[in-house]
Amino acid sequence: IKMSRFWSKTVKNLTPYVPGEQPKLSQLIKLNTNESPYGPSPKALAAIASANTDGLRLYPDPNSDALKQSIAKVHGLSSEQVFVGNGSDEVLAHAFLGLLKHEDPILFPDITYSFYPVYCNLYDISFINIPLDEDFAINTKDYIRKNGGIIFPNPNAPTGRALPLADIKALLESNTESVVVIDEAYVDFGTESAVSLVNQYDNLLVTHTLSKSYALAGLRVGYAVGHPDLIEGLERVKNSFNSYPIDKLAMAGAIAAIEDQDYLKKISQAVINTRAELVKSLDQLGFETISSSANFIFTKHPQHDAAKIAASLREKHIIVRHFKMPRIDQHLRITIGTDEQCAKLIAALQEIV
Ligand SMILES: *Cc1c(COP(=O)(O)O)cnc(C)c1O
Repeated sequence: IKMSRFWSKTVKNLTPYVPGEQPKLSQLIKLNTNESPYGPSPKALAAIASANTDGLRLYPDPNSDALKQSIAKVHGLSSEQVFVGNGSDEVLAHAFLGLLKHEDPILFPDITYSFYPVYCNLYDISFINIPLDEDFAINTKDYIRKNGGIIFPNPNAPTGRALPLADIKALLESNTESVVVIDEAYVDFGTESAVSLVNQYDNLLVTHTLSKSYALAGLRVGYAVGHPDLIEGLERVKNSFNSYPIDKLAMAGAIAAIEDQDYLKKISQAVINTRAELVKSLDQLGFETISSSANFIFTKHPQHDAAKIAASLREKHIIVRHFKMPRIDQHLRITIGTDEQCAKLIAALQEIV
């Protein structure tokens, strides 16, 4: 790696997250970063347009109170139980620094969202990887040990496997001395949310994003809900970092999107329906797919190398995600597109396998 003598020691030691490619070409079928194939709520787009005024010369509300109120209302909580950030990645970053950095190492699965170890590296937090079982399932019993905190997505990424709420409840019953963060980036695609437990457990933080199910990855809005004391901890970090993470356009769009729950349900259901069809077609081609509760599937073909399939798909202008990592280098993560995009994917795979 090229280093500059002007870099701090911290910067020299970083291992930054590598996001999925955002290609400049427009003719591609882009199934690599779990964006929605549908547009955002028309009401969100209208609200953003209305906020695009001379008012932009003023700073936004540093506390994003109106947005917090909309989020609180949709979950039946109070505003003091809500934290908002510039994408849930920022919310997670603040949680790592503010709630998960302690003497004891934190725990997360060996196969999970690859940003978690990046934050640990940035903030100098020690961690232990808890292996998923052979079926790529999280076994919450493996997390019953001394720890500085626990974090995993539900459903997990990139496997798409969901954990029943009863398992999360059991984990919270046995783990009362550290914060448990459930990253629910994909919860709207068919998983029971742990938000229903935040009034019961003062160490539970649940994070959501508008990037996936709300089709607003470009707006950069995410949030966390939990006990007011946890939220206050996150506010202290946020106010020591960036007072205005939610700009005026994002605020207007996010509020309108969250208030349009009918649209959210409609496009989430469309993804769920397409997912079922895609899995059936992949079965017929000999693929083995993990049962998914997300807007992507994690699949492998017993006779064909995953990296080669990904490269062949790319030649056909379809991009999917392949991770060169132990245990999962024979899998592909494929975002659920429209029915038409998935039909093109299947047609391409028919020629490849
Ligand atoms: C996409 C994703 C996020 C981050 O979403 P933002 O776009 O930063 O809101 C967080 N966690 C998981 C597991 C994700 O897949």
